Order: sequence, then structure tokens, then C-alpha cells
Amino acid sequence: MIIAMRANATEEEINDVCDSIRRYGYKPHLIRGEERVVIGAVGHGDNKDHLQSLRSSPGVEDVVPILQPYKIVGRELKKEKTVVRVGDLEIGGREFVVMAGPCSVETREQLMETADAVKQAGAQVLRGGAYKPRTSPYDFQGLEVEGLKLLAEARDRTGLKIVTEVVTTEDTELVAEYADILQVGARNMQNFALLKRLGSIDRPVLLKRGMSSTIKELLLSAEYIASHGNDQIMLCERGIRTFETMTRNTLDLAAVPLLNELSHLPVIVDPSHATGRRTLVRPAAKASVAVGADGLIIEVHPRPQEAWSDGPQSLTPAMFAEIMNDLRAYVGLESRSIN
Ligand code: PEP
Ligand code: MN
Repeated sequence: MIIAMRANATEEEINDVCDSIRRYGYKPHLIRGEERVVIGAVGHGDNKDHLQSLRSSPGVEDVVPILQPYKIVGRELKKEKTVVRVGDLEIGGREFVVMAGPCSVETREQLMETADAVKQAGAQVLRGGAYKPRTSPYDFQGLEVEGLKLLAEARDRTGLKIVTEVVTTEDTELVAEYADILQVGARNMQNFALLKRLGSIDRPVLLKRGMSSTIKELLLSAEYIASHGNDQIMLCERGIRTFETMTRNTLDLAAVPLLNELSHLPVIVDPSHATGRRTLVRPAAKASVAVGADGLIIEVHPRPQEAWSDGPQSLTPAMFAEIMNDLRAYVGLESRSIN
């Protein structure tokens, strides 16, 4: 249920409504909009009638049901776009955000060289996997803690924020110690234990869409994180599996405006995994901006032919710089900024 408070409702009235919601067995989610406070009452209580009765409480304007199954991350409850804050960086606001870096952290030289290059080209966030969920157990699995330490070193060196994947529930706190943004990979989008743990972590989450997941499933996975206490979430379209085999995945471009319609969370596109081909990353990146993405995550490697993972889709620093130039032109049209 959505309990919309009057524009002039007092803090005391708001607190009283929250107390009543808890008493009826639901969790209150307070949203402070520009004009008024809206409170979402979510949970699996069976006291809907009690919630309806809040209509006559002081300061309450209206009580209406939330029809979407994703209650907290849906637009019904919160009309304004969520701005995810990563230190001084805002994602989902006016600035268009680009995350870039290697698929995997391989060596100090490789990471520092890439970090310097993507920083120079204008990226705000450095990506790099320290824990890699690989299809084959014989493929490189990541440098693990050593990789996290290298990412932290690259942050100190360049000032870039760090996004890196967390693969298991047990590693969540450890990865959060080093990373600014925790990435949930496509293969883990429905790892509900991991999603719940991320709900209790004080770090923004980049939630990637599972390769065979629907948009509704993606939103419900985001709802897991939000309902466990963390509403700093970005949704990531990274391509889905279709009958097409010429590209690694099929970029679902329509998912971007649809997610923007259904949810207030920022939407990031990963044109690297979505296409799997270096030559397609640039056009896919431009298309993503045109359909309303809030940012991009792109794989870059100083020598893609030597990459330990995802070489065929990794861009050289020079190719990445060209995309950043495109974006400056494009993003200008949308009156957003890119540094
Ligand atoms: C990655 O970002 O390198 C990755 C493994 O992505 P995804 O989970 O989307 O396949
Ligand atoms: Mn990759």
C-alpha cells in the first residue's frame, strides 16, 4: 500500500503512521519527495484493511494499493528517479556515467595501464573482476583478494571509483571493504541469499540482468536487495540469450526505456557482454544513450589479444577514447554532462 501524506504533514504524524504500519505487520519505506512524503507499507502481512484505515489518520491524504509486484523499486511508490551516490559521483542524475576497465584484473601493470587510460579518456569508474564466475572450471577464476588490493591501488592512483563483482555470500563484506560498487553478475541475478546479504551492506549494487531473465525477474531481484534495506541499486542490461549466435548475446535495447518506465532505479548498459564483439561495442553504446541509459560499463584492455578473459569484446584504450568522444557529442544533446 502507498500511504501518501499531505504536503503539510508533520514529522510526528509521519512517525505515527510508520508505527501503525509496523504494528500491522508491514515494513514502512519512507520516500521524501519534493512536495510530500510518501510511505510504502510492504510485506506479507494480511492486514490490508488496517492499512486502509490509515486513511483517517492525521496528516494522511490517501491510501492506495501498489499493483506492481516490485513494490519498492517500482515507479508507483516513487515517481522521482533515484540518484545513486558513490562518494561525490551521482548515478541517475544529470551526469552520464561511464565505467570501464578489464574483464579481469590480471597483473598490476595491466590494471594500472588500463586505469590510467580510461581515466584519461574520461571514465568515472574503473571496472575489473577479482572474482570471476567462469563457465568452465578450467578457466582463470580471478586473483581474488590480490585483485581487490590492486583495484584499491588503482583507485588511490587515479581517483576512479571501483566496481567489482561479488560472487558468493561469504565474500560480500570482504569485497565491500575494497569496492565502491558491488556488481552482481548475470549468473547470480537470482542468487537470493546473495541478494539478501547485499541488502544489509552499505554499498551501491550494480545488478546485472540474468542472460535468460525477464525484466520482471530483474526488478524482483532488485526488490530483494531493496526490501532487505539497501535501495542504492543500479539495473544493468547486458544482453540476453536468443537464437542468434553471431553475437554473444542480444542487446535488449527496449529494456532500457521500459525499465525507466517501470522503475526509478538508474539503468546502465553493458555493450561489451551484450555483443561479444569489439566492433559492435561503439554502435551499441551510442544506441544505449539514445534510448535513455544513465551510464555504460565497457571492457577495455591495453592488449585485448592477450586478455585472460573476454578479449574478443575488449576495446583498446584508443577505441574506448573514440566512444568517449561520441558520448560527449551525444550526451550534450540530452543536456547531461560527461566530464
Ligand atoms: C563481467 O562483467 O565480466 C561479467 C562476467 O558479466 P556478466 O555477469 O554480465 O556475464
Ligand atoms: Mn567479462
